[in-house]
Amino acid sequence: MGFVDPYEEAKKQLREAVDLLGYGVEVYEALAVPERVVQVKVPVRMDDGSLRVFVGWRVHHNSALGPYKGGVRYHPEATMNETIALSMWMTWKCSLMGLPYGGGKGAVRVDALRLSRGEYERVSRAYFSALSRFVGVDLDIPAPDLFTNPQVMSWYVDEYSRIMGGQYFGVVTGKPEDLGGLRVRTYATGLGVAIVAREVARRVIGGIEGATVAVQGYGNVGSNAAIFLEEMGAKVVAASDIYGGIYNSKGLSTREVKETVDKTGSVINYDKIERKISNEELLTLDVDILVPAAVENVITERNAPEVKAKIIVEGANGPTTVEAENILTEKGTVIVPDILANAGGVVTSHIEWVNNRMGGWITEEEARRKLEEKMVNAFKATWNYWETKLDMKKQNMRTAAYLIAVDRVVKAMKLRGWL
Ligand code: NAD
Repeated sequence: MGFVDPYEEAKKQLREAVDLLGYGVEVYEALAVPERVVQVKVPVRMDDGSLRVFVGWRVHHNSALGPYKGGVRYHPEATMNETIALSMWMTWKCSLMGLPYGGGKGAVRVDALRLSRGEYERVSRAYFSALSRFVGVDLDIPAPDLFTNPQVMSWYVDEYSRIMGGQYFGVVTGKPEDLGGLRVRTYATGLGVAIVAREVARRVIGGIEGATVAVQGYGNVGSNAAIFLEEMGAKVVAASDIYGGIYNSKGLSTREVKETVDKTGSVINYDKIERKISNEELLTLDVDILVPAAVENVITERNAPEVKAKIIVEGANGPTTVEAENILTEKGTVIVPDILANAGGVVTSHIEWVNNRMGGWITEEEARRKLEEKMVNAFKATWNYWETKLDMKKQNMRTAAYLIAVDRVVKAMKLRGWL
């Protein structure tokens, strides 16, 4: 497989959605090109006294529905095109979830694992300072992504507030609780995955009670999805991480597995199991629900014919390749797409932002109730669209999600006179 440019992929998906919706080339072009791509220089004095210059981007894809929203990742292989693609996916995710946000994304091309804490802070402050004119509570609201976290968001808030002369906690989300963040954010994506898994199970296999589940990836998303699914009555029989997987046909104690990961660094050190399994085997286990929650492109045309799960809930971004999805759709496997399944994080970000802007407070229970309501409603809307407007045997749920999302953005652009 050669290099796949994620921006080209994102444009292909957009083209297909625009065609199916019956819109013309004007609409495609108006959405294929991001509104703004800001490239910034991130000069940082390293601990050894040398000066390093990193490159960062912030992409504003579309703001028809509201201010740009999306995470910032620090990665040595980050590129501008990848950031553009990710910003476009954020536009669709926010639109599908009915949030008053457009799509944005940011990146700094840096290996965060090689930075000291001081260097990590200086990179963060330099990046946000360079971007200060392009972010804002009503303009663009970043959040954490790969190798950024609540501490980085705290430095962002501080840098921005210093430059602007005020206290702007709503300029980023995913902050620590002491700076106006929400505790729910720490498990929201996994909880959202479990909620949509429960909803889809009701429709496809008669309910989540007793359903068998395999979870690939036991980090933030995978572990919380597993824990909530067990609470809902499912039997999580398999889990894995980068070091390998574990299996117990009677069900794993998902909290104990999480404790093992916290203590030892991997699921493979959990011993109440029948056997160890590989990641490859996990994906093809005979289970009701498969939750890929690790990395992209793990379900491919090579293993898709062997996948036995009736339902796949995409916790990770892009775990299923297009070729694999075609094979699975033909087999009748129901795939809940990433832009719906893992949207719990951004939904909670919205709750955090509203709360910051009101200068108010919200209890964990209230926030959870709102998250639950949003996930269930978005799932129902997508399922109903799929059932009533598409051919469920030939078209997949991802198509339904894209059509709803793109159409909503197009309608907003028309209302605003952009089209
Ligand atoms: P994380 O770093 O907390 O956990 C990742 C897990 O995947 C770890 O258990 C790791 O060992 C495992 N893993 C890594 N490479 C693997 C491989 N090659 N094979 C098997 N397991 C592997 O990350 P996370 O926050 O849980 O994110 C997981 C996925 O969900 C990513 O695709 C991310 O983009 C997506 N996502 C996360 C959030 C969020 O709020 N955290 C929101 C939306 C989407």
